[in-house]
Amino acid sequence: MRELLIKESAVEPDLRKFNLEHRRFVKVAVDAPLPKPLTYLDEGSEGVVRGQIVQVPLGRRSKLTRGLIVGTATEAEANEFKNLKSISKEMVEWPPLPEPFVKWLEWLSQYYLYPLGFVFSNALPRLGRFTQRKTKHPSPVRSSERTTPPALTTEQAKAVNAITKVLDGFSAHLLLGITGSGKTEVYLRALEPILAAGKKAIVLVPEISLTPQLLSRFANRFGAEKIASLHSQLTDREKTNMWWTMVDGPAQILIGARSALFCPLANLGMIIVDEEQELSFKQEDHLRYHARDAALVLAKLSGCPIILGSATPSLETWQNVLTQKFQVHELTHRAVAVVPPTLEVVDMRGLESTQDLPGWLSPKMHGAIETALAAGKQAALFLNRRGVANLLLCPACGFSFECPNCDINLTLHHRTLVCHYCEYHQSVPGVCPDCKEGELKPIGIGTEKIQSDLAELFPEARIFRADRDEIQSRQDYEKLIEDMEKQNIDILVGTQMIAKGLDFPHLQMVGLVLADIGMNFPDFRAGERMYQLMTQMAGRAGRHVKEGEPPGQVIIQTYNPTHSAVQHAIGSSYAAFAEAELAIRQLFHYPPHGYMIAIKVQSLEKSLASNFIGGLARKLNSLKAKDENKFAVELLGPTESPLSRIKNQYRFHLLLKDTNRQRLHKVCQWLIENEEPPPKVKLVVDVDPMNLL
Ligand code: ADP
Ligand code: ZN
Repeated sequence: MRELLIKESAVEPDLRKFNLEHRRFVKVAVDAPLPKPLTYLDEGSEGVVRGQIVQVPLGRRSKLTRGLIVGTATEAEANEFKNLKSISKEMVEWPPLPEPFVKWLEWLSQYYLYPLGFVFSNALPRLGRFTQRKTKHPSPVRSSERTTPPALTTEQAKAVNAITKVLDGFSAHLLLGITGSGKTEVYLRALEPILAAGKKAIVLVPEISLTPQLLSRFANRFGAEKIASLHSQLTDREKTNMWWTMVDGPAQILIGARSALFCPLANLGMIIVDEEQELSFKQEDHLRYHARDAALVLAKLSGCPIILGSATPSLETWQNVLTQKFQVHELTHRAVAVVPPTLEVVDMRGLESTQDLPGWLSPKMHGAIETALAAGKQAALFLNRRGVANLLLCPACGFSFECPNCDINLTLHHRTLVCHYCEYHQSVPGVCPDCKEGELKPIGIGTEKIQSDLAELFPEARIFRADRDEIQSRQDYEKLIEDMEKQNIDILVGTQMIAKGLDFPHLQMVGLVLADIGMNFPDFRAGERMYQLMTQMAGRAGRHVKEGEPPGQVIIQTYNPTHSAVQHAIGSSYAAFAEAELAIRQLFHYPPHGYMIAIKVQSLEKSLASNFIGGLARKLNSLKAKDENKFAVELLGPTESPLSRIKNQYRFHLLLKDTNRQRLHKVCQWLIENEEPPPKVKLVVDVDPMNLL
């Protein structure tokens, strides 16, 4: 710009003034790793507006880069740029993004400490409107039969009335109720006035719950043309079509996994987040946002109600109920009267040596499977570990197989040793490769082992295994649901993939093979997750048992029967569990009684990563020593991450904790702006981290 002015000063002064007055300077968040928007010249006759999507030249890139107009710049700001460039082309096919949506993108960028240009490019589908082929309405549901809604129960009616009382304005609601208590019916009813007013709504569900059954339920109520759905397995074109049918087409309800939030709807009237406690709402790469928290902010900025639904809310959400930021509406029993299942805990200590059954199976669980099968019903066993064995060990010398790329033991699958974190696998040798003597012995269990043991115990039964080795696509998953419904399966063995939200009418018995897996995770949320898993699992059994029929059975096997998560899962209410758990969190200032940001550093060279993170910690500590008030952040670490090497990347982390969120953010902001990682080192800032492994 300065160069430009010097040159222009040679021409007639009045003309230069004229030119300047007719130029506008605009700030553009470009799709590039830049902390701040860049200033460009807008020479178009119309003038661009905030929220408009444009294309701009950037650095030495030969192609134009997409950018978002976020505001105007002053001449002084423009003067900072030596080489001021012009916006090249407005992308006319995109309507300007609605103002609350632009504000929301800015919030995401500030809160998750991620460049605005990247946040924005994450938001839009890759294809523009006019590049799409003309298609009919891309309804996710083929046909639908309109159904009449049932009469609401008193509790449901109370919830619907409270939620829909004020539709113009932000309000947050927790719908607390077990699966089958009629939460979805409340969502459907709460959406009615939104649709009638011509507004749009977003319904977020965990990716795994986004089944044809769920979509049909919405389509049957409102008509297939009103429904659009977004999930990760759609092609770019399908995504684009869904996106446009929501933005300016007939669809009014977008049902999707977390990314559905990024559809910029001008008249958003309601957001629903079902199973709000689900971990899958947190994105674990790029923009590490939590969709539930992002949805709350979007609802606030859009001025509309938001409903969070769960049987076992996250403690963050429960804390918001306790401090009355959220209204809570409880559905205390199943919508359709059924006999509740019985729930028993089996103490596994000392059991192994006293029976003929495989070591992982108690006589109680064995008996319950027999009973269910004899009654022509189904059984399901959960175990959070795939494979045949956790570990293959040489009893002679103690040798075990480790992944050459990751700091983890290889898991035995059939005749192959597999790493669960990278693609590495190898075949199993006949004798120990180390001492050349010992006969290798599998230690620990996995889903494959359970399946093969059951096949011997119940030779007549049709056994199916559902884990990430078997279920790899949405089609596989839908086939499984169908096979369960049609009773083509007698015993289902699976990881927690099958514990969520499924409703199988003939499933009589549900067993958790080993509750202890997960209890001892080095994560302060381990207890919360165990509690959620056990409660969810219990919700799967005997869902349609009527008066006079034998109740469903839930059996939990554990070596820690007195663990508080187990005790609460069998004996008390969610509120009682939350109270106990919150007291522990308070003691250590863990969320929701404190805020956390994880600084994660990784590199192929161990010393590079550890030196860099060590330096960061020293810097923060010395700042803290200087100004206790401004930097009163608690530092945990730096330490090697529990999984200290994945895909040959050495991993370290440093946890920052503070009871003051603003202060914590400022410190991290400072860190990002001042401490650039050296070459070959990757720095990731994870705000409100959910995964500390
Ligand atoms: P959730 O979403 O909490 O799992 P649903 O809304 O799916 O619960 O309800 C569980 C079952 O009960 C469904 O089959 C649903 O159709 C039925 N249901 C829900 N509310 C009512 C009601 N008020 N009257 C009759 N059936 C209902
Ligand atoms: Zn590996």
